[in-house]
Amino acid sequence: MNISPPHRLRLDGAALVANWRWLKQQGGNAACGAAVKADGYGLGAREVVARLAAAGCRDFFVATWAEAAALMPLPQGTALSVLHGVRPEDMAAAKSIAARPVLNSPEQVRRWRAAGGGACDVMIDTGINRLGIAPEDADVLDGLAIETLMSHLACADEDVPQNAAQRRALLAVAERVPHRRLSLANSAGLCLGPGYALDLTRPGLALYGGVPRPEAAGHIRQAAFPEAQVLQRRRVSAGGSVGYNATWTAAGDTEIAILNLGYADGILRGFSGTGRALADGRALPFLGRVSMDLIAVDATAAPALAEGDWVTIDYDLPIAAAASGLSQYELLTGLGDRFQRCWVN
Ligand SMILES: *Cc1c(COP(=O)(O)O)cnc(C)c1O
Repeated sequence: MNISPPHRLRLDGAALVANWRWLKQQGGNAACGAAVKADGYGLGAREVVARLAAAGCRDFFVATWAEAAALMPLPQGTALSVLHGVRPEDMAAAKSIAARPVLNSPEQVRRWRAAGGGACDVMIDTGINRLGIAPEDADVLDGLAIETLMSHLACADEDVPQNAAQRRALLAVAERVPHRRLSLANSAGLCLGPGYALDLTRPGLALYGGVPRPEAAGHIRQAAFPEAQVLQRRRVSAGGSVGYNATWTAAGDTEIAILNLGYADGILRGFSGTGRALADGRALPFLGRVSMDLIAVDATAAPALAEGDWVTIDYDLPIAAAASGLSQYELLTGLGDRFQRCWVN
């Protein structure tokens, strides 16, 4: 049966591609890749890869081999790197799937060699202390066929000396470790200046509408728009309360609309009393607590809004992050499976 769900995620393919083009331009002559882990930050990795590949993107990044397998076969002429490298239980997949591991430790390097080696990427830890081979252990890389030698910035969204220090540390390793391309910048790193782009960049967040640093504001377009149907319109009399724990009480008679989505869809309770929906450009503030599957909004500004009408949740990422206390990353990757993903453009 084809049941159309009461909420959907409208995805703007033109915004996605425009964001990639802007990021590519920031990187000058560097190739611009795309991080599509976590199912393309919640938008749908397969669709994202197809659209960016058509725009000219050649290098994609996922976290795990399960994510890599789900993207096969890749569009012609593109390559995929698996950021978490190879656990013992990944080796069969790593040898059969057309993707490269990003080797992250001496153990992973030994494992890859023992299985016959072949083209790989390597992560150098230059200070994030999360994944990566320490510069002093770089001797274990002797003789490896390294496609991309990379590192990852810990604080690229801040103006701190650590950014330049990490860049210097990567360049120092690059002098003694043969590689084809060098890569450092994520979305925020791309905003730090031309010296950070090197040969290949790896933006994620900003492709999907996140604004990682002030330099990107006004250039990055929102790409994901949660939309929900009105399930019911009602009037709350003065003194009446709305939702669990009665956290909002009507000062006067108030027209409200009940939306068919909630925290189970990723619109978390941090939006209670701070989020808003938009109906024909008019703001409808959330009232009371966000429930699992329902959200109440003030419908005063939309007198004609009725059962069955669709509204858009205000999900401009910097605004929604400030309203909810969540990061722009969490806002995207938390969007639930119940949303029907609908690409426009
Ligand atoms: C997720 C990730 C990226 C993309 O980062 P954004 O901040 O989303 O642009 C790039 N490189 C690595 C290693 C990552 O894990």
